[in-house]
Amino acid sequence: MRLLLAEDEQQAGEYLLKGLTENGWVVDWVQTGPDALHMASNASYDVIVLDIGLPQMDGWEVIKRIRIDNKTPVLFLTARDRVEDRVRGLELGADDYLIKPFAFSELLARIRALQRRGKQQEPDIVRIADLEVHLLRRRVERGDQRIDLTAKEYALLLLLMRRTGEVMSRTLIAEQVWDMNFDSDTNVVEVAIRRLRSKVDDPFDKKLIHTVRGFGYVLEDRP
Ligand code: CA
Repeated sequence: MRLLLAEDEQQAGEYLLKGLTENGWVVDWVQTGPDALHMASNASYDVIVLDIGLPQMDGWEVIKRIRIDNKTPVLFLTARDRVEDRVRGLELGADDYLIKPFAFSELLARIRALQRRGKQQEPDIVRIADLEVHLLRRRVERGDQRIDLTAKEYALLLLLMRRTGEVMSRTLIAEQVWDMNFDSDTNVVEVAIRRLRSKVDDPFDKKLIHTVRGFGYVLEDRP
């Protein structure tokens, strides 16, 4: 039972860390948005508890970026009880929320519920043709070959696989994987696609990543 706790306030963080640890959770506690994102992308958690008001990158941005390639249940904490905030969090892909201040017992009940739900929902494997991504192990295989990808290549591949059959524009890919807004220079995407292809497609007869000229890319199993 691993949990990522992102809370910048020292006292609240210590309190939650202690309470959760006493209740059997193995907790990683971080205090900034970038640290939350880093930990969420490099370790596997059952639940993420995320304060919205975090320094350097707020919780909204963290949820948005976590959700590119990660289905770990997220419960967000917000200090303001505003309908817009709750809706925004849920739209960005959070699973539940609590308004501060909250009772610890309620937090515990909510994260247990999320943990159970997460187990049922999380598919272990995303598969297109003979290309497989094992989400929990972050492992990519094609046929019986293992493919080693960088973190960005992995995010890019997963984005294309989750949206299989949809043409993804370079701009959209840039926004989702790099969080960049390109006006004209989408060379970064082209370079990354080329590297990804060299690992995922080039060694194999059947190509899965297709270029849609003048627009972008689509990953699909074409007959
Ligand atoms: Ca805060």
